[in-house]
Amino acid sequence: MRLDKMLANSGIGTRKEVKKLLKDGGVTVNGSMVKDAKIHVDPAVDKVYLFDEPVRYREFIYLMMNKPDGVVSATEDKRDETVIDLLDESHKHFEPHPVGRLDKDTEGMLLLTNDGQLSHSLLSPKRHVGKTYFAQIKGNVTEEDVHAFDKGVTLEDGYVTKPAKLIILSSGAESEIELTITEGKFHQVKRMFIAVDKEVLYLKRLSMGPLALDESLELGEYRELTEEEVRILK
Ligand code: URA
Repeated sequence: MRLDKMLANSGIGTRKEVKKLLKDGGVTVNGSMVKDAKIHVDPAVDKVYLFDEPVRYREFIYLMMNKPDGVVSATEDKRDETVIDLLDESHKHFEPHPVGRLDKDTEGMLLLTNDGQLSHSLLSPKRHVGKTYFAQIKGNVTEEDVHAFDKGVTLEDGYVTKPAKLIILSSGAESEIELTITEGKFHQVKRMFIAVDKEVLYLKRLSMGPLALDESLELGEYRELTEEEVRILK
């Protein structure tokens, strides 16, 4: 792979920043200073150093974002801002994609990665990865709804949902709930509440599988997962 790609994939900076580091003579390959960004290196074999520190190449990136309202969870969109637009160049460079989708108006936990195998496995219906949401609901959520969600409700297209765990946090003309589902049908939470004659007013994802949203992330902020977090996701 090209030296500039390898350096950028080591979290050192953008391709542009990497080019400058090379130009300034900061990089050696197998002991010799290299200024040409285009030379090819093998990260497993060649010893690449930046200012005498070994450069640790990585192929994959794993990010957790607190997705804000108004942003689409896609890599590209003609009209709307995407979650990728919220990333720094040094993270965009890895070409991550969102792991599944949240609606434009849904907030909360969104994972992004360029590790196709991991995202495929997290989204696989066979794996039944639980996703927990907090929601504000128009209408009085009752124990009857808890029971209905546990048995599975019939959506407007005839699909019967898998058992889902509904916890009522408060109820009245408006209610607050937590719901854990193990599937990811289009608009699933909103459609499940429509099936019991109610409406989702606000939706936030709190967790995906074993990972909970890092509440220190403001809306629109993100951070890399730790090695331990990646390990427990796999
Ligand atoms: N269910 C929904 O209805 N919307 C989301 O964004 C996620 C789950």
